[in-house]
Amino acid sequence: AADTAMYHAKETGRDNVKFFTAALNQAVQRRLDIGKRLRQALARDEFTLHYQPQVEMDSGIIFSAEALLRWQPPGTQPISCGDFIANAEESGLIVSIGEWVLRQACQQLKIWRDGGHPQLKIAVNLSPRQLEQVNFCALVGQILDEAGIPASALELEITESMLMQRSEYNLAMLTRLSDMGIALSVDDFGTGYSSLAYLQRFPVHSLKIDQSFVRDIGKDQNDTALVTAIIAMAASLHLGVIAEGVETLQQAQFLMAQGCHAAQGFYYSKAVRADAFSELIANKFEDKNPLHG
Ligand code: C2E
Ligand code: MG
Ligand code: MG
Ligand code: MG
Repeated sequence: AADTAMYHAKETGRDNVKFFTAALNQAVQRRLDIGKRLRQALARDEFTLHYQPQVEMDSGIIFSAEALLRWQPPGTQPISCGDFIANAEESGLIVSIGEWVLRQACQQLKIWRDGGHPQLKIAVNLSPRQLEQVNFCALVGQILDEAGIPASALELEITESMLMQRSEYNLAMLTRLSDMGIALSVDDFGTGYSSLAYLQRFPVHSLKIDQSFVRDIGKDQNDTALVTAIIAMAASLHLGVIAEGVETLQQAQFLMAQGCHAAQGFYYSKAVRADAFSELIANKFEDKNPLHG
């Protein structure tokens, strides 16, 4: 009986190995497939950028646009990043896609600046994988030159994790970008674990308060306190601050009362195609002034 049990265990073990191998192959295959599809999408020009206004709340002026990636396979609606960015990161394709995003965003900004908005800026999200490229700073310089916009018109949005991981290398890279005149902002601020020490050590210019905290302003005491603390901290560290995910007049009013004067969110506009953004910048959001609400 013991022999039989042993035999069964072995068989089961073998079956498990077979099972895991199959599952693993499937996962690897799936990743390869998505990698391949994203590579094709890039080659076939299926990516587009949408732009979301960043607004100075008291004047209603749009001072910058955040470029947000969309994937639009022919004959379909644009797919948001949430659904494929992680795959692009895993497959490494985010490096090529990110380069395309940067080039596209800078070229578009040039059109807007030449078309009567010489002060407008552009914000572009950066993946940690892009920063790993040792020639990344040179590439950014080249893209700015080709587009014909100054480094001061570009803001790169980094993640808190970039301040924590490989920090000596990242510190050197981010310092070079900053020395070139590029502004660096910390995206989704408050969701990671970056300490004050990191913020002082790195050449960070502004903080973007994560939308999860903004969403709960007035509803969740902890989140409300956190928003207040981040705004106060930014002020004492001489950093800029912008709130993400502002959806209501009440949120805008609270933020202004706390000393945060810049916002981005559905209250003003969602991210829109370049042609629609051109119409947005022609008008100010004067009707949305939180002080008159
Ligand atoms: P993010 O950079 O924090 O961008 C803000 C996200 O919140 C965007 O989603 C935007 O459409 C959405 N959003 C803006 N205002 C509101 C609001 O009032 N309410 C709500 N509920 N949502 C709002 P999206 O475009 O799906 O992008 C998701 C994330 O994907 C971005 O978060 C960013 O981390 C990443 N991403 C987008 N484009 C790129 C890119 O070109 N490169 C890289 N590496 N990442 C990108
Ligand atoms: Mg962002
Ligand atoms: Mg964010
Ligand atoms: Mg909450």
